[in-house]
Amino acid sequence: MAEKKTLIEVKNLKKYFNVGSGAILKAVDDISFAIKEGETLGLVGESGCGKSTTGRTIIRLYEATGGEVIYNGKNIHGLNKAEAKEFTKQAQMIFQDPYASLNPRITVGDIVGEGIDIHNLYSGKQRTEKIYELLNTVGLNKEHASRFPHEFSGGQRQRIGIARSLAIEPKFIVCDEPISALDVSIQAQVVNLLIKLQRELGLTYLFIAHDLSMVKHISDRVGVMYLGTMVEMASSEELYMNPLHPYTQALLSAIPIADPHVEKSRQRVLLEGDVPSPINPPPGCRFKARCRYAKDICSQEMPAFREISKDHFVACHIV
Ligand code: SF4
Repeated sequence: MAEKKTLIEVKNLKKYFNVGSGAILKAVDDISFAIKEGETLGLVGESGCGKSTTGRTIIRLYEATGGEVIYNGKNIHGLNKAEAKEFTKQAQMIFQDPYASLNPRITVGDIVGEGIDIHNLYSGKQRTEKIYELLNTVGLNKEHASRFPHEFSGGQRQRIGIARSLAIEPKFIVCDEPISALDVSIQAQVVNLLIKLQRELGLTYLFIAHDLSMVKHISDRVGVMYLGTMVEMASSEELYMNPLHPYTQALLSAIPIADPHVEKSRQRVLLEGDVPSPINPPPGCRFKARCRYAKDICSQEMPAFREISKDHFVACHIV
């Protein structure tokens, strides 16, 4: 089978925020990875680990502090105006809170049509037909076009958000915790819709979530972030079968298993200590305060993000 082409390459990306009094919040601190065309890369980690900031910086909602995001051979943080407009057409975002991300004062038809209007893609009857088609694609129907967001359930609102992001036929979508605000029963429906759309339209996803079980279901590969750094990355299967970083092991051990016998007998790795502040982080491994294997070197040197076995990367001194 032919090797898939790399669609997006993130090189040593940094996003810092100046939080006043000389303090710097290092939300994303020197991370690198690539995503191939048609692939889904899952990004997981606790709240505040930098995963959403990574997604937002990759599609230029934030300017990068350092590093590069290469898309179609160009660094997207150095594009001219015309190139930047073309990039926003190709890269879209689905937001966590479907209700907050939809304008409550305009109809669903106009929400879905926003991108079509901005990029002058269709007008008149063609525009209306395109909106109906998009609603149909995400499991809604044309009668929904004249209604307002408050008339829909959480799952339906997320479908509207997905239809909006598809309107300008993007290639790459950052899904920023698209299921976190939904009931568990609805989460699988939205994830299955995203998988179906990917197959039909050849989309590439960066799927950000803190629910590791759902991430496994949708992702080809998964990256684990901790305090602005990438600590492990591997194929979904490899990461879930053979987690090597102590933090990944702890995250995975917290996922409940449906079989009560297995659930009862397995060992939980409890995370101890507090999450350090991402403001002016101390040297060394950022996980050291909570790591049961920490050694002297862990306080002195930041572990390198190394390939331990084929396509399995880990940042830990003892692996
Ligand atoms: Fe733990 Fe040290 Fe590995 Fe960090 S580098 S995860 S502190 S063993």
